[in-house]
Amino acid sequence: MHSPYTLSCAVWEFTLACNLDCIHCGSSAGSKREKELDTAEALKLCDDLKAAGCRGVALMGGEPFLRKDFWEVASKIRALGMELSVITNGTVRPPDVFDRLKALSPRAVAVSIDAAEPALHDRIRGREGAFADSWSFMKDALAAGLPVSVITTVHKLNLGQLAALREKLKGKGLAWQVQTAGAEGRRFPKKLLLDRDEFYAVGMFIESTRRRYKPEDLALIGAHDLGYNSARLINVSLYEKWEGCQAGISILGIRSDGGFIGCLAINDDRFVEGNARTMRVKELWRSRSAFPYTRNFRRDDAGPECARCRHLDSCKGGCSEMSLMKTGRLHNDPYCFYAIERADGSGPSKMERLRDFFDQCSRPGSLRRLSRAFSGRRRRRET
Ligand code: SF4
Ligand code: SF4
Repeated sequence: MHSPYTLSCAVWEFTLACNLDCIHCGSSAGSKREKELDTAEALKLCDDLKAAGCRGVALMGGEPFLRKDFWEVASKIRALGMELSVITNGTVRPPDVFDRLKALSPRAVAVSIDAAEPALHDRIRGREGAFADSWSFMKDALAAGLPVSVITTVHKLNLGQLAALREKLKGKGLAWQVQTAGAEGRRFPKKLLLDRDEFYAVGMFIESTRRRYKPEDLALIGAHDLGYNSARLINVSLYEKWEGCQAGISILGIRSDGGFIGCLAINDDRFVEGNARTMRVKELWRSRSAFPYTRNFRRDDAGPECARCRHLDSCKGGCSEMSLMKTGRLHNDPYCFYAIERADGSGPSKMERLRDFFDQCSRPGSLRRLSRAFSGRRRRRET
């Protein structure tokens, strides 16, 4: 049976081993999983992905450079004609890493940097000196002519760093992706999660930055699941239109032990649907029963946050991971720009004024104060 879904990207946790100890790590990386795929199994999985029509593979971790067969598997991905992206913490440098990456013509080399202040980045990442290593990795990768992205994961500790980090990153010819932390990882205290006002403020920051800077100076984007259906923040995501959670629609997550899951962000064993050791990717992708929560969504599946929303048919209730984390159920995402705006009711002129303040918000806590200011006396309305 032919699948109506195109596998655009397989996001592959290449190993769960990691040399850092980041507080927000959603998969609580550190040690390897039991029974991670060996080299032969990983190479076979590359063939399987190609056979399933997969267009691109993102190798991440843990820290993907900790696996000695990284180059063998990355080369195989490219030899099969699939795009390659690498997501690294930037503190592990295999010999000749930039020359070898260049030879692979990757789509992106993404380095995680979480703060402008080195000490804060080190605290978040759990190792002194991590900032210096990641920053120099980023700079050396740029100097080598690689397509570099910086990924920043935002929570209460570093929300106030965004403007200062923007100053450090602009003009370097890189892309910057901002995403928000979830609470799946066991090291992450839930009290550090952004509240809805802060979440919205991140969207405002991205919008104001994209208005102000040309993409050549700083190509800033929000993660694909960062708010949706906003009437005001129309320039936050890479995509023009939000079409619902992409788990099992265009994205496949692969755990380092071969487990298939619609999206790696959903760190919940109940959502694992087969394993690369016993099942071909094509078999899973074409199965009528796979990924029912996104492929077979019905309006009745929506929770109270979304049930009466006019965007429900296309949105399907937002990000599955965010919805599960925040409410314990699917199709019920409370972190939604549309719902936040409906609840707030403040007018566009106030929003415009607030955008002007963002350039000044380099002090810790200032974004939070601004978002509080706009949300003011919030009135809950029906969606
Ligand atoms: S309320 Fe729910 S369905 Fe409506 S836009 Fe927000 S997340 Fe999507
Ligand atoms: S669970 Fe969230 S992050 Fe994952 S594909 Fe769905 S919308 Fe994207």
